[in-house]
Amino acid sequence: MITIQGKGVSTGVAAGPLYFYRRAKGTITRFTVEDRDAEWQRFKDAQAKAIEQLGELAEKARVEAGDEAAMLFETHQMMAEDLDYEETIQGLILDEGQNAEAVVTDVGAQFADMFATMDDDYMKARAADVKDVSGRIVGILLGIVQGGIDSDVPVVLASDDLAPSETVQLDKSKILGFVTSGGSGSSHTAILARTMGIPAIIGVGDQLKEEYEGREVIIDGGTGIVAVDPDEDTRVHLMKKREEQLKRLALLNQLKGQPNETKDGQKIKIFCNIGDPSDVAAVLENDGGGVGLFRSEFLYLNCDDYPTEDYQFEAYKKVLSDLDGKEVVIRTLDIGADKQIAYFDMPKEENPALGNRALRICLNRPEIFRTQLRALFRASAFGKLGIMFPMVTSVWEVKEAKKMCDQVRAELDAEGIAYSDDVEIGIMIETPAAAVISDRLAQIVDFFSIGTNDLTQYTLACDRQNNDLGRFFNAHHPAVLRLIKLVTENAHKHGAWVGICGELGADLELTETFLSIGLDELSVSPRSVLPLRQKVRETNVSEVRERLMDDLMSDANTI
Ligand code: PEP
Ligand code: MG
Repeated sequence: MITIQGKGVSTGVAAGPLYFYRRAKGTITRFTVEDRDAEWQRFKDAQAKAIEQLGELAEKARVEAGDEAAMLFETHQMMAEDLDYEETIQGLILDEGQNAEAVVTDVGAQFADMFATMDDDYMKARAADVKDVSGRIVGILLGIVQGGIDSDVPVVLASDDLAPSETVQLDKSKILGFVTSGGSGSSHTAILARTMGIPAIIGVGDQLKEEYEGREVIIDGGTGIVAVDPDEDTRVHLMKKREEQLKRLALLNQLKGQPNETKDGQKIKIFCNIGDPSDVAAVLENDGGGVGLFRSEFLYLNCDDYPTEDYQFEAYKKVLSDLDGKEVVIRTLDIGADKQIAYFDMPKEENPALGNRALRICLNRPEIFRTQLRALFRASAFGKLGIMFPMVTSVWEVKEAKKMCDQVRAELDAEGIAYSDDVEIGIMIETPAAAVISDRLAQIVDFFSIGTNDLTQYTLACDRQNNDLGRFFNAHHPAVLRLIKLVTENAHKHGAWVGICGELGADLELTETFLSIGLDELSVSPRSVLPLRQKVRETNVSEVRERLMDDLMSDANTI
């Protein structure tokens, strides 16, 4: 057996013959053209054809892997007609008389090198995209058909680094898993593999040799192990793992459409956390009941300057419309601490997690807040919206934020712009202060969403970014759980609903505790919806409530 270690980027175990991806090859010759205008037209025709093909691929990807995958090909379309890219090609053809395929190959390589040397990992990964686009145009110029898998049986596909367009064009029924020598976790091949649910391992370097072609391999996309010619022990171990995963997945899929209801009839909402409008596909695919947390700051993080009201409106409207009446809770801007944005030009702070962040920035810079609130209220006409404010510590902050909402509504009325009169206003409970005065806060909001990531950090005085704190950062600490209980009781006393949107919401060890406490909602990553639903449906709350609540409040709980 040969064991190869790579980096697992899409979980699952796959077994089958190894097959190396074959690219259609064409020889690029270099020559000087007689008719430069005709050569330029030849390029323009190939470019138009490439854009058309990419449009078709975008539609195929949308059906097979959702909007995010489709967007990738839409980006490729934009790259194919990027002005800098096109002008560089134009210069070499019209001014120097070089032939189109040689020029596109060179310019593609030049742009790819430029991306590859950038510091930012995301931009680095775009080198593969620009090469992919150029390869497509060259392929069209040379009349080459795309490569693929020439095998009758499904295979584990090996390659140097599959381009996204290569990945999406592959016949999925022939692919058991991916192994690439290069690549990165944020490459689109990894993203597509995860979205399609195919196990994938990247970065195996030169350990995978073409002479292994046709030999049996088992890959584990969780641990990043590739076993070539696996021995009996490895085979038994990994195949057992695979069987368990498949069984689990089939069972989980059967839970789609089923209620999140315990054996004794207690219901809880299971919503999803998202960071981008394109994540809605995963919410729907995993049967999420709605969106419990849309981290709106990612819109700001993706822009080079303050996103305009219209830009934000379109993004919020898309999420609300795509969810078709299901509830969507959008959190107002939460930057500061670990999420810094250059164009905000914030002064450097010694302790940014305790500094100017989230709602504090919005209240100090009302023009930014107002723009976001206007976009949110305008979007509210297109679905069921909840707005929530992060990092609250005092009643006055919430009152001031609500006053801003009133002002925005009055402006929209005056301008004759439609908005829903059914928008819920809530806050995140992320600070011990907010938890302790939650009895007062509950009287002025419609809902609470407990951000356990920050609530744990601030309650235990443990930096959530610091991996070295290890056992000191314990989100199961009774101080955190007791605060969750207190907040839930106070919310219910005053008619507000309460959920958890921090990572703890998906922690299956605590599901019984959360049900016993009586939380109304848990908002988790889309992939966690069905496992959580399963756990809820296995629970009999009346059997465990008393014991769990006694444990939580008892002296014996001395952690
Ligand atoms: C939290 O703090 O638990 C939360 C959901 O917000 P974020 O992780 O974005 O700070
Ligand atoms: Mg938080």
